[in-house]
Amino acid sequence: MSRIIQKEWTVRPSYFAVKTQNLIRNVVENIKMTPNPNKKYITLSIGDPTAFGNFQPPESVLQAIRDSLDHPSSPNYGPVIGFYEARKAVAEYSRRQGKVKPEDVILCSGCTHAIDLVITTLANSGQNILVPRPGHTVYKTAAEGLGIELKFYNLLPDQNWEIDLEDLENKIDEATALIVVINPSNPCGSVYKAEHLRDILQIASRNRVPVLADEIYEDFTFSGHKFTTLSSLSVDVPIITCSGITKRFLVPGWRLGWLIIHDRNNILGDDIRKGLCNVASRLLGPCVLIQRALPAILESPQGYFWDMMKFVETQANFACKQLCLCPGLRPITPQGVMYMMIEIQISLFPSFKDDVQFVERLLMEEAVLCLPGQCFGYPNFMRIVLTVPENILTEACNRIMAFCQQHCSGLKMKEELLDVTVAKPIIREDLLTTA
Ligand SMILES: *Cc1c(COP(=O)(O)O)cnc(C)c1O
Repeated sequence: MSRIIQKEWTVRPSYFAVKTQNLIRNVVENIKMTPNPNKKYITLSIGDPTAFGNFQPPESVLQAIRDSLDHPSSPNYGPVIGFYEARKAVAEYSRRQGKVKPEDVILCSGCTHAIDLVITTLANSGQNILVPRPGHTVYKTAAEGLGIELKFYNLLPDQNWEIDLEDLENKIDEATALIVVINPSNPCGSVYKAEHLRDILQIASRNRVPVLADEIYEDFTFSGHKFTTLSSLSVDVPIITCSGITKRFLVPGWRLGWLIIHDRNNILGDDIRKGLCNVASRLLGPCVLIQRALPAILESPQGYFWDMMKFVETQANFACKQLCLCPGLRPITPQGVMYMMIEIQISLFPSFKDDVQFVERLLMEEAVLCLPGQCFGYPNFMRIVLTVPENILTEACNRIMAFCQQHCSGLKMKEELLDVTVAKPIIREDLLTTA
């Protein structure tokens, strides 16, 4: 007879599994309202430009995968940090970041995995990482299960979402392992000037904290705004830049990203590089089919991308003009990316407690779904996606207007400022000429 250890079945999820949470999923799953069945459902919540069918990856990107499939060893395992050829292609593609060698590149299963690798390699349980608020939820998901604390530094909506530098520096303590900078930003659509990036680097340098630069939206800028890669400005601060093909090449489902180590003063040293490789070996490297296609993907002509950005900019201008006229809303003009944050002046909506209730009722009455700011740690805002087809965005703005007119208590006062034709769609032509 063998020894009985337990008389009852008790199979429990690990601490890690319980503590690993996705804020967007949690908030959205908790929205109990169903969309008004009498209106066509419009979702402005999905951060995937390919979700609506109006944007597709270019043919050269698709062909690269077909060719990869025909490679004689296409089903074989690849190296855990990626094929040298593919890493070389990323180094070449990223040369404006500074001197990048293939040895500095690790290929990952999406940018999310790159972020996960950096956090698990640089931080221990009990340490903290500094992340922007509002900011993308991927950081919370990656860190909390590991017992790594998130500390939020504030962004300033009235200064185009620049970082509150004083707040950032105040949040650094002995246990801070990493500062995360997301530029250009999801959800804010901000694009930082070089000057601001230099200020951030000075804080990191003074306090000796390495930086994770999330640059998955590199070059997603509107006219008049220029993207600067953080690492190109760094003298001493070690920077690990995370990016990938998801957004730029319109293939979110293909799951290919990377991290690039910039360590000019050899501060991270071989230990961190080795640590990153160790952790990468947990997943045995990203999909080989995509890795082999990577050099060709990265060389794809970019006409489709600049066309998309022009379209998104037009959409941003349109949505801004329209939503500015909605009583109780204050859209913050984005400088790039494909999202816009809108402040809900909640005190003007006496029937709603917060952004989640506002979004729920908007869904119930007007069948429009926006993401509540709480998904990004930022209540009383909501985020909309600008890549939806034009007619859908126009219709959504009209419905949001009707909704605000109905529920905003400040309407009477605001009405005097408004044109009486306000509820009608603004004519698109005059907007297109300004784009
Ligand atoms: C989409 C996104 C990611 C994740 O990209 P994947 O390649 O899909 O994993 C990371 N950071 C930000 C800011 C994003 O918007």
